[in-house]
Amino acid sequence: MRVSNKYFLTLFVLFFIFIAFEAYSKEPVVVSKIRFADIEGGVRVVVDLNDHIKYEYLTLGNPNRFVIDLENVVYDKKFSFPRPKGVINDVRFGSPYDEVSRIVFDLNYSVNVKGVKILKPSSGSKRRLSFDLNVDESRIVSKKNKKSIIEKKDLVVTSKKSKRKITIVIDPGHGGKDPGTSYPGQFNEKDVVLRFSSILKQNLQKNPKYRVFLTREDDSFVPLSQRVDFANTKSADLFISIHADASRNNDVKGFSVYTLSKKGIDRESEKLAKREDSLYLISREHKIRGINLKNAKGLKENYYITSALKESQLRSTKFASILVDKVSERTRLLKRAQRYAGFAVLKSAYFPSILVELGFVTNENDRKNLLSRNWLTRISYTFIDAINEYFN
Ligand SMILES: [Zn+2]
Repeated sequence: MRVSNKYFLTLFVLFFIFIAFEAYSKEPVVVSKIRFADIEGGVRVVVDLNDHIKYEYLTLGNPNRFVIDLENVVYDKKFSFPRPKGVINDVRFGSPYDEVSRIVFDLNYSVNVKGVKILKPSSGSKRRLSFDLNVDESRIVSKKNKKSIIEKKDLVVTSKKSKRKITIVIDPGHGGKDPGTSYPGQFNEKDVVLRFSSILKQNLQKNPKYRVFLTREDDSFVPLSQRVDFANTKSADLFISIHADASRNNDVKGFSVYTLSKKGIDRESEKLAKREDSLYLISREHKIRGINLKNAKGLKENYYITSALKESQLRSTKFASILVDKVSERTRLLKRAQRYAGFAVLKSAYFPSILVELGFVTNENDRKNLLSRNWLTRISYTFIDAINEYFN
């Protein structure tokens, strides 16, 4: 009896070692090609693979996208992206988490995904993962005009325009156990930035053009990565992180805006970034949400990552400069009010994002402003002016 118990125990342990080994040693699946084919009412997306694969897919609106997440893959050396076809307007890719490669198809119209299949390799051909994207005509053309979407392009564009809401995600910095900077006895940064964010949301959503979300609605602790992920799930068109600064020099005052830049990050800004991100910097340092630079698996992927980032950086900088311009009409700016830094919340390739320091809690004048509901409301209107101009 004893012997057989031992025997089973050994088998049991070996079995688990085997499973663990399997999980670790699994070679990445090679993606050799992505192809598009015309089908009635839409486009078929075919991914050529050399093995079984774990995958997930979803569709997103505003703007319309089809997203495939592939687990543990590498791209063949000869891999190149197919030219956009039919409803597919563009193809991008990145890596939202370790081991996951995400392919994003930008779409001209909303689609229904049908006929999701893995086709076994027949002689000479690869294993294929296939999706049929059928244009959701009911949502873009009335039945009367259903005959041809292409012919009714103008109609489609008009109806799309009137439907689409611009999504703004406002991110009140810190919260819960993380108070941010503070002026002892008077206030914490986390409270002021939440108050301002709520005022901004309230005033901004009076315009039906905008959908507005806050990353936190109360004094709760929200990790940085979750804030950006939240904006991703809401398909944000713009991300605004709200903070207040502190300085050893009580005379330093004024409003400033930061956008992400790898180049031109000045030392002071980098120190500030470390302070704002201090709780999470360690694990997130090399990561850009939505993409993972370490995992870039070749020139091609690097190229797409870089170009997506560049594009969102350009748009962020554009919005930042409009905002600084508008705010300067109403309040004092910090010297060189438009700055660059590597804040974790700015590292997204999918939407333009800025980080605002409303003022300095260490300066008497700024403190008065930060505590004044009147001032916060006035500044919220300058933000709205800037947002209107940017999306005009
Ligand atoms: Zn802060």
